[in-house]
Amino acid sequence: MANDFDVIVIGAGPAGYHSAIRSSQLGLNTAIVEKWLDSSGAAAYGGTCLNVGCIPSKTLLEASHKFVEARDEFGHIGIKLSKLSADIPAMMKRKDRVVSDLTAGVSSLLKTNKVEQYEGIAKVLGNGEVSIAMHNQEKAKLTAENIIIATGSVPIDIKPCPLTENLIVDSTGALEFDSVPKKIGVIGSGIIGLELGSVWSRLGSEVVLLEALEELLPVCDSQVSKEAAKEFKKQGMDIRLGARVTGSHIKRGKVEISYSRGDEDQREIFDKVIVAVGRRPYTNDLISPEAGVSLDERGFIAVNEYCMTDAPGVYAVGDVVRGPMLAHKGMEEGIMVAERIAGKLPQVDYDLVPSVVYTHPEIAWVGKNEEDLKAAGENYSVGVFPMRASGRAMANNDTSGIIKVIADKVTDRLLGVHIIAPHASEMIAEAVIAMEFKASAEDLALTMFAHPTLSEGLHEAALAVSGHAIHVANRKK
Ligand code: FAD
Ligand code: NAD
Repeated sequence: MANDFDVIVIGAGPAGYHSAIRSSQLGLNTAIVEKWLDSSGAAAYGGTCLNVGCIPSKTLLEASHKFVEARDEFGHIGIKLSKLSADIPAMMKRKDRVVSDLTAGVSSLLKTNKVEQYEGIAKVLGNGEVSIAMHNQEKAKLTAENIIIATGSVPIDIKPCPLTENLIVDSTGALEFDSVPKKIGVIGSGIIGLELGSVWSRLGSEVVLLEALEELLPVCDSQVSKEAAKEFKKQGMDIRLGARVTGSHIKRGKVEISYSRGDEDQREIFDKVIVAVGRRPYTNDLISPEAGVSLDERGFIAVNEYCMTDAPGVYAVGDVVRGPMLAHKGMEEGIMVAERIAGKLPQVDYDLVPSVVYTHPEIAWVGKNEEDLKAAGENYSVGVFPMRASGRAMANNDTSGIIKVIADKVTDRLLGVHIIAPHASEMIAEAVIAMEFKASAEDLALTMFAHPTLSEGLHEAALAVSGHAIHVANRKK
C-alpha cells in the first residue's frame, strides 16, 4: 500500500518547520504535526523559539535596553527627557503581538509551501507509522517513508525549587510578569538567567543570580567572561557563584530560598524566583518501543552526524538531539536531513555553530577559545581590540567590550573569534563566514571594512594577531 506522505515531521519549532518547508521545496509530499496551543487555546507554530524563547525574550531585551538608554544615557548625548516610565502591560502586549504575527507567519509559510498541517500530539509507532491524537478529538494514523522528529526541549525542574503559580517560575513565566517585581532571585546564571535577569534588572528589579558553579559562563573564552562579569556588576546584577540552592518556602506571597555557599547556609526572600538551570530533550510518550529509536544516556534521541536514528527512515533534529540547544543549529539540521532524504549530500559543520548571549554588551563567539587550545596543546596567536579604541563605539556612546581573534601560530588559520560588544550578534556572522571559507587572520586583516563601524574592531583584532593593529598597543610577542 502506498504511504500517505514521503515525509512526516513531528514538531513545528525552528528545526521542524525548516525541514518540512525544505522537504516540500524538494518535491517531497510532506506533513507536519504540532501540538502547541497558545493561551487562547489556538494551535501555534514556531515551537519554543517563537512562542516562549528567542523571539519574546529578544523583544523584551530590546525594549528594556531602550528604556535604560533613555533613562541613563540620553542625557549624555544631549537628549533631555522628563517623566520617563516603563509601561509593562504595553511592553507585554507588543511582545505578544510580535509572537503571534511570527507564529501565524510560520503557519502561512507551511501552507504556501503545501505542507499538510496536523494539529495534535504525534507518536512514532514503527514501520513508518505515526499516530496523532488531534486537538479536535479525532484520531489519525499516517504512514511515511521518512519521519523527522523535532520535538525540542523543555525546562529542567529542580526538587528544592518546584514551580509555584506566578511565584517560582521558569523562563516562560519570566516572560509574562505584569509588573516589575521588587526583588527577583534567578537560579542559574547561564544564558537564560543572564538574559531574563537583564530584562528585569533594567526595568527596575533588584536581581540576585544564584549559580552552582564557581565560574561565570564557563562556555566562553575566560577573558570574555571576566569582561562580562565586570559589566554585569556595573549594571547592578548580583551574581553569587558557588551557590547551591537547597530549598524554597512560600511565605506570605513571597519566596524564601535557602542555599549554601562555601561552608555557610544562607536564606533570602524574593518577590519572584526564576528557575533557569538548563533544558532537557522532550520525548514524553513519543516513541513506541517497536519503533527501534534509541535514546542516549542523557535522554537525547541518539543520532549520527547526519541526524539518522537507529531506526531506518527515522531522523531527529534540533534540541531533542545532542549538540547546543540553539535554534539555528536545529534549522541547519532540519534542512540537511530534508536534502539528504532528497538525495543530496549536505553536512552540518558542528565546529562552526555561533553562540550569542543577548545581554548588553552582547557576547558572541565561534570556534575554539584560549582554554580549549591550551588544553589541546595547540600553538596559537591572539589579537585583541578593546572597543574603547573604536571611533564608532565612541560616537555611539557605548565603548564596552573587546574583540578577540585567535589564529594558528604556524598557518595563521582562524581558530576562534570571541566578542563582547554591542551588536556582537551581528559581527560574529563576519567571523563565521571567514572561518567557513578557512580564512587566515591575514585574510581578515587584508579585507577592507567600512569606516566608521564597530566591525572595524574585528579588522583591528585580526591585524593585532601579527602585531600590526593601528589603534592599539599590540600584545608583546
Ligand atoms: P522547539 O522549538 O522546542 O519545538 C519543538 C516543537 O515540537 C514544539 O512546538 C512542540 O509543541 C512540538 N512537539 C513536541 N512533542 C510533540 C508531539 N509528540 N507531537 C507534536 N508536536 C510535538 N536559541 C537561539 O538560537 N537563540 C536565542 O536567542 C534563544 N533564546 C532562547 C530564549 C529562551 C527563553 C529559551 C527558552 C530558549 C531560547 N533559545 C534560543 C533556544 C531555542 O528556543 C531552541 O534551541 C529551539 O527552539 C529548538 O528548536 P526545536 O525545533 O528543536 O524545538
Ligand atoms: P544553561 O545551561 O545555559 O545554564 C544553566 C545554568 O544553571 C548553568 O550555569 C548551571 O551551572 C546552573 N545550574 C544548574 N543547576 C543549578 C542549581 N541547582 N543551582 C544553581 N545553578 C544551577 O541553561 P539555560 O540558561 O536554562 O538555557 C537552556 C538552553 O537554552 C541553553 O542550552 C541555551 O542553548 C538555550 N538558550 C539560548 C539562548 C541564546 O542563544 N541566546 C538564550 C536562551 C536559551
